[in-house]
Amino acid sequence: MFLVGLTGGIASGKSTVVAVLRELGCAVIDADVIAREVVQPHCKAYQQIVSSFGTEILLGNGEINREALGSIIFSQPQKRQLLNSITHPEIQKEMLKQIVKYFVLGYRYVILDIPLLFETNRLTKFMKYTVLVYCDPPTQLARLMRRNGLARAEAEARLAAQLPLEEKRRLASWVIDNSGEREATRRQVLRLHARLQGSLHFLWARLAAGALAAGLAALGCLLLRRLGS
Ligand code: ADP
Repeated sequence: MFLVGLTGGIASGKSTVVAVLRELGCAVIDADVIAREVVQPHCKAYQQIVSSFGTEILLGNGEINREALGSIIFSQPQKRQLLNSITHPEIQKEMLKQIVKYFVLGYRYVILDIPLLFETNRLTKFMKYTVLVYCDPPTQLARLMRRNGLARAEAEARLAAQLPLEEKRRLASWVIDNSGEREATRRQVLRLHARLQGSLHFLWARLAAGALAAGLAALGCLLLRRLGS
């Protein structure tokens, strides 16, 4: 098995591309969904967040107020680091669990949908390929304004807070250009899918798992024979 990191910029079309990949039967792990799950009240990170940030970041129903937390960490980098040190290990643990699940199910590769893949840059080393969903800046701005109902200045501020797509483009091993029609994007996703399906990189993990299983079986036989003699 191998891992494929998928990323983009705000409103560049990542969700649109993920929808096509899922339709094609790909295993996709959504880092945003996991990030929301690991801060639910029954989770370990929840207690740590409440004891570090206080009960004022809680909603009436006891859940974490993500917007309140977001504005705290936006203006205070140290608090951002603290929050990341609490949540990142939990997110990675959950991702690993899901990767193992897909491996056992026989998937050749798993796509990790990670919005800040290049910004945090800690997971890129585990990826066989990194895919960027790109969109030219004027189209990105127009789509962001339309989708989120934002004024131009507000949308520009959101874009300015991210690493520019031009920069991410240089870091990615594969680029899907979503500046044009949806159909043109779909064709590019089909090409990417064909390339991933044809890749033989998955064999290494399968061979290693096979060798490990054979080794353990041999060890088991040896122990049984020793016990029997
Ligand atoms: P992201 O997940 O990267 O934030 P989305 O996939 O939600 O971006 O796309 C942003 C907006 O642009 C959405 O409203 C979507 O419907 C629209 N959109 C995406 N791709 C295209 C396209 N090729 N042509 C027209 N609109 C698009």
